[in-house]
Formats: sequence, C-alpha cells, structure tokens
Amino acid sequence: MERAHLPAVREAKRNNMTFLKTEMALMYDAVHLFAKALGDLDRSRPIEVARLDCEGDETWIYGNSLVNYMKWVQVRGLTGLIKFDAKGFRRDVTLDIVELTKTGLVKVGRWSRTSGANYTKSYREVEQGIVEDLRRKNLVISSVLEPPYVMLPETPDGEKGSQRLEGFCIDLIREISQILVFNYTVELADDGTYGRFDADSGRWNGMIGELLEQKADLAIGDLTITNERKQVVDFTVPWMNLGVSILYRKSSKKTSVFYRFLSPISADVWLSVASAYLVVSVMLFTIARFSPYEWTDTHQCDTSEGRINEFSLLGSFWFCFGSLVQQGGNALPRAISTRIIAGVWWFFTLIMISSYTANLTAFLMAERLETLVESVDDLAKSQIQYGTLNGGSTWNFFRTSKLAIYQKMFNFMESQTPTVYSTSNEEGVSKVLKGDGKYAYIMESPSIEYVTERHCDLIQVGGLLNSRSYSIALPPGSPYRTLINSALLKLQETGKLRDLKHKWWKVERGGGACQSSGDSGAASRAKELGLNSVGGVFVVLLAGMGLASITAVCEFAWKARRLSSSAKERDSRWNDVSKDLGLTLSCTSSTTTDGKVSAEGRKVSALTKTTYGSTYTTTCSFRQKELLS
Ligand code: GLU
Repeated sequence: MERAHLPAVREAKRNNMTFLKTEMALMYDAVHLFAKALGDLDRSRPIEVARLDCEGDETWIYGNSLVNYMKWVQVRGLTGLIKFDAKGFRRDVTLDIVELTKTGLVKVGRWSRTSGANYTKSYREVEQGIVEDLRRKNLVISSVLEPPYVMLPETPDGEKGSQRLEGFCIDLIREISQILVFNYTVELADDGTYGRFDADSGRWNGMIGELLEQKADLAIGDLTITNERKQVVDFTVPWMNLGVSILYRKSSKKTSVFYRFLSPISADVWLSVASAYLVVSVMLFTIARFSPYEWTDTHQCDTSEGRINEFSLLGSFWFCFGSLVQQGGNALPRAISTRIIAGVWWFFTLIMISSYTANLTAFLMAERLETLVESVDDLAKSQIQYGTLNGGSTWNFFRTSKLAIYQKMFNFMESQTPTVYSTSNEEGVSKVLKGDGKYAYIMESPSIEYVTERHCDLIQVGGLLNSRSYSIALPPGSPYRTLINSALLKLQETGKLRDLKHKWWKVERGGGACQSSGDSGAASRAKELGLNSVGGVFVVLLAGMGLASITAVCEFAWKARRLSSSAKERDSRWNDVSKDLGLTLSCTSSTTTDGKVSAEGRKVSALTKTTYGSTYTTTCSFRQKELLS
C-alpha cells in the first residue's frame, strides 16, 4: 500500500479496526471515485436522474458521459492515486512491500507494474531479517530412518530406544543449528519414504510430500537431488557426492591350496615364459655356435686337440634354466653376442621372478575370493537376481535411463515375481546375505561403504554407474536456503563433514570390523599377472635376441676379415663365410668332454676350421698358421 495511505491504516487501527482488507479499501475507493465523477459532471452541466426500467431498452442519457468522466478524473484513495487508461483499466499503481516485524509492519520496498519490486532494504538487511526470523523459529525437519544417516539410538544392552535419534544427518543438522542458531524438531516422515511423484494421485509422497504440504520446513537424510524433485522443491548445496553401485556377496569358492603357487601368474604368462625359455635356449646355442669368439682352446697349453664350445644344446638349456630359477649354470658366455643374450635373459628373469614373488605374497596373505560378477554388464548377463530400493532415486535412475543396458535391467527387475525390490536398504542387504551369491543389491555407494565396513563377506562390485549428490531439501522459495548453504560450506571447509563421515562410517556402530580383512581384501583383490602387465619385458627380451644376432654376424664377419690376408682370399671370403655358416649350424658337437675332437667334429670342413681356428688343417693351413701365430 502506498505510504500516503498508511495513516489511513493507522486510523483504522485507532478506531479499533484490527485490519483493513484490500477488497474493502478498493470498494471505498470505487465509491469515492464514482461520487467525485458524478459531482463534477453535475457541476459541469445540470443532469437529471430518470427512473429506468431494468427490463426495458431505455438508457440513461448521461451514462456514457459519466463513464468517460470517471476515466478522466483522478482521486487519491485508500489504495493510492486512482487513474484509469482509455480502456478503463487502472494505471500507475504502486504498492508498498511491507514486512511484519516485532514492532509491526515495516515498509521494505515498492512494487509497480513498470519497474517491478524495488527493495529499499539492502541484501544484508534482508539476510539479517531472515537470520532473526530463523532464531525465533522451531523448524520441523522431516527425515527417514536409514543407517548411518538417521538411526534410533542403541541402548547399552543392545535394545533400541526411541527417545532421541542419532546419526550423520542428526549431527549435521545440529552443527547447522549451532551456526545459524535455531531450534528444530526432527520428525520421521509418515510413510518412511524419500519422495516419489504418483501420477495417479498427482501428489508427492515421503519427505518431499511433507515439504510440499507444509508439514515440514526442511528434509534431511540420504535424500538424493534429482531433476524431478528439483522441479518442486529447493535443494541446498550438496553435502556428499556419490554414485550407484552393486552390493554383492563374496564367493566362498577358494582356489586349491596345492596349486596356489600357479595363481600369481596367468596361464598365458606361464606359457609365454615357457616359450621364451625354449626360444632363448635355442638362440643361445645357435649364436654360441656361430660366434667365433665363443670357441676356446680345450686346454691352455694344448691346442692340438681342437677348440671347445661350452654352449651345447643341453648346456644352453641348462644355463637358461639355471638363470630362470636364479641359480646360474656352469658355463659363462664369452662372446659379446652370447653375453647380450645372457644379459637380457637375466634381466627378463629378474623382472619375472620379482613380479611373481610380489604377487605370490599378496595371494598367500589372503584367500583369493572370487566373484561371479565383476561389473554391471556381468550382472545384466548373469542369472543372478538383482533389485533396488522400491521407488527411490536408484529405482528412478533405471526407470528413466536411456541406456539400453539399464533399460534391460529395469525391465528385468519389473518383471520379477516375487518382487526383487526392497522397502528399505536393510532389507536389500539381508537379501544379499541370505542369497549366497544369487542376489545382488543396487544401492548408493556411501551405503555400500557403510555395509561392507561391517559385513566382511559383502563387497562392492564394479565402479559407480552414475554420479549424484545428497543435499537438504526445502519448500520452494524458502528464505533459509542461502543461510543453510553458507553453513554447509563452512562445515565442508573446516573439515567437519569429513570428521562426521569418519565417525559414522568407520567408528560408531561396529565400524572398522572389516579393517584387518580389509587389508587382506587388497590382497584378495590382487589379480594374477596378465600378459599386459609384463608384456614389456618380453619385448626387451625380443630386442636383445635381435641385437645378439646382429652382433654375432658382426663377430663372424670381423673374424673372417682378420683371417683374409690376400686379395684373392678376400674375394673368396664371402663364399667361405656363407659355407662356414651352413657348416657351423649343421655341426652337432665340436669336442668330446675330455677335449678330444669327436668324429663329428672332425667332419667340420676345412673352411669352417679357418674361421673357428681349429688346428685341423687341410686346405687352408695358411690361415691356421696366422691364427696360431
Ligand atoms: N537416496 C535415495 C533417494 O533419495 C534412496 C536410496 C536409493 O534409491 O538407493 O531416493
């Protein structure tokens, strides 16, 4: 109401009128305007008032003039300046915005059709007003029982009492009330649900319904912000971020203790190691044959009996096996090429043995607990039953999802009889416990964390299916939202929210029960080493083999070059080399164990002898002399 007319209100009060209704004020102004227009019209020209029949067609000849006069005349009435436009609508209406304070109504701003609401109070003053208003209030807070957010207290003898509620959310609202200074009463929602819209009745149930029906000023609990709910109520900033995941029972199946030593490494890695062992042993044998520097005198003082090569086929296998089990063999490589092979093989065995030992430790620390499902895809494909809380935001997530897999899962859940849904998370958890691997419960991750902290045979399977948050809900347009937001941010910044989470998840009500097995849980989650984890070391081994082969060729060529003294000889050198190579590879044994050249060794061609420095001379004695000199 415009300031000029506040005296009228005061006068009305003085006259013991407790209030003046808007309709009365408008009626008063209308009569006032009509009287003024009629008086002015009468003064401008004499008018007569004729008797008219309501049923007849006769009209009052001054009627139109009076209406026009009323549009033109201006009067200051109880509801402000009264003016009309050409169509007869009131214009230039301004309204005072008043606020009821302890001292009565106080003007806080103005409203006009053209400029809207203009507050004369600063934002700070308005906020201060809300703070003061909050201090006088006793807020009714709606909630639902759900551990560890809101729980009935447990008396020391294990009986549940009903006097006071406790839990994360109860502590949270206490902290907020201490910051903002207000009183509150927590009341459990009549139907014990969170809030779901029923299209048939057109109403919301649960905590959301209580807010909309003005039965509660706030709703607190593990209440998820959803788009649907956000359309009808206000939410504060989130106090916890989470996602939906799967709660499942650990399988009691254990791998056989006898063959536990095989578990740390997957079958394909075992096969690859065995293949690598075969390939490297054969390579070592071949390159040791091929490299001239791997051939040595049988005895230092006696070269007459020939040259010896320690890497026979069996010797090579023995050398590689000795290295693989970290024991070493009798022989040691001499040539660069064979040393490269030995080096990379030692490196390979070092990495493989270290990885195996580390993984074996993890496997032995705890029993390997295997689950049939490892992800939501496994669950969707399996024969295992699964469900959610009925009508909660998780159920709604599957109902409204556009992803084919979640739609399929929702259809599956809907089609099951008896129902796979639960009326509370507690019921869902007990279904998983009793189901012994035949039932999985899809619930929100903090609740899974709370449950798995206390039931060591339950685990979270797979990652989060989505991302969402919990927050406090208020009726739409609630003035307290900004204040509660800043209180929540303060609690977040001071670490209070983290402390509360630790208290209610890890400490209170049997928290930390699975701590010891939680550590071994890490071990139980230890995966066998796959090829993708150790593939790199196979690549190094392969590269080493390649390098050793190139080096062996260089060694061979170098030795051959040194022995070629004449130009003619140099011309025929490459012929010799190629023949030497063939003969070397076809040579099965060079010497007997006592250093005597075997019959087969004697078959080695004269050309081969040139490069390998044999004392057996036939056609190439000049080379042999050179070698010995
Ligand atoms: N937090 C959920 C809600 O606000 C209830 C639990 C659930 O649906 O998993 O509806």
